[in-house]
Amino acid sequence: RAKDAGGGGYAAYDPSMHDAVVRRLELASDLRLALERDELVLHYQPKVDLRTGEIIGFEALVRWQHPVRGMVPPLDFIGVAEATGLIVPLGRWVLTQACRQAVAWDRPLKMAVNLSVRQFEAGDVAEMVASVLAETGMPPGRLVLEMTESVLLTDTDDNLARIVSLKALGVQLAMDDFGTGYSSLAYLRRFPMDVLKIDRSFVDRLGGESEDEALVRTIVRLGQRFGMHTVAEGIENETQLAILQEMGCDYAQGYLLSRPLPEPDATALLDRGLPFPVPAPA
Ligand code: C2E
Ligand code: MG
Ligand code: MG
Ligand code: MG
Repeated sequence: RAKDAGGGGYAAYDPSMHDAVVRRLELASDLRLALERDELVLHYQPKVDLRTGEIIGFEALVRWQHPVRGMVPPLDFIGVAEATGLIVPLGRWVLTQACRQAVAWDRPLKMAVNLSVRQFEAGDVAEMVASVLAETGMPPGRLVLEMTESVLLTDTDDNLARIVSLKALGVQLAMDDFGTGYSSLAYLRRFPMDVLKIDRSFVDRLGGESEDEALVRTIVRLGQRFGMHTVAEGIENETQLAILQEMGCDYAQGYLLSRPLPEPDATALLDRGLPFPVPAPA
């Protein structure tokens, strides 16, 4: 970063930094158009019951089919959407689309949607969710809203009130990327979460150091203790799967089971089941 590089507060002109700023501005104005031009699309990644191998639901993950840049992953534009406030219409679009899809599938599946902390600050998030549920006919009990620990850490009291109103709609709440933020157990206890999602970085390290395994085991127990389901994200190999099954983790998501899929592929997957059965827990 140019600002940190020099000692006197003056930085040499750095063309790469200029490029980055221009790119961001372009991205912001393109994103505004993307919503109007229907360039956003949802992919769906299945969540699998670790006891039965059954698909119990999906997480909706947004992608941007940019006319020039091709498929843009969410980490490249969600930040811009948050900074510009576009996350509000974008988030509503994602929720509507995901609920429509869940209703169209017409099976008792859960649909999980990511909520940004910015959506909590802009307007009444519970009212937004309620109106999308009404508009799409989505049963509230089948919707899972995933949020990160940042929701617990900023504007804690206001966000607690918002989360309580969301919960009152009958939707389920999931703590995403659990373990990566700095929330304390006391916070977790105060917030009415139904699901704990164990961050991929912990799942990654399973099968190596025993300390990492102990950490994941502790999170699973914590979930059980607090009456929350646990979901492990980012399962990429059979060793991780077997360890999580043994620990009693409830659900799993990851490339081993399936990548996030466009709607036709997700529908086909539902019809034929997973390409290979999950072995029963030992
Ligand atoms: P997340 O909610 O934690 O979603 C999980 C991410 O991990 C997804 O990346 C998914 O494709 C990826 N993933 C799943 N299984 C594996 C695996 O086995 N290995 C690896 N390496 N990765 C795996 P994706 O789709 O790129 O999304 C990244 C993040 O962008 C999401 O993290 C979420 O924070 C955000 N995001 C995605 N869609 C939305 C959205 O509609 N709204 C908001 N606010 N954020 C979104
Ligand atoms: Mg998520
Ligand atoms: Mg996650
Ligand atoms: Mg994650």
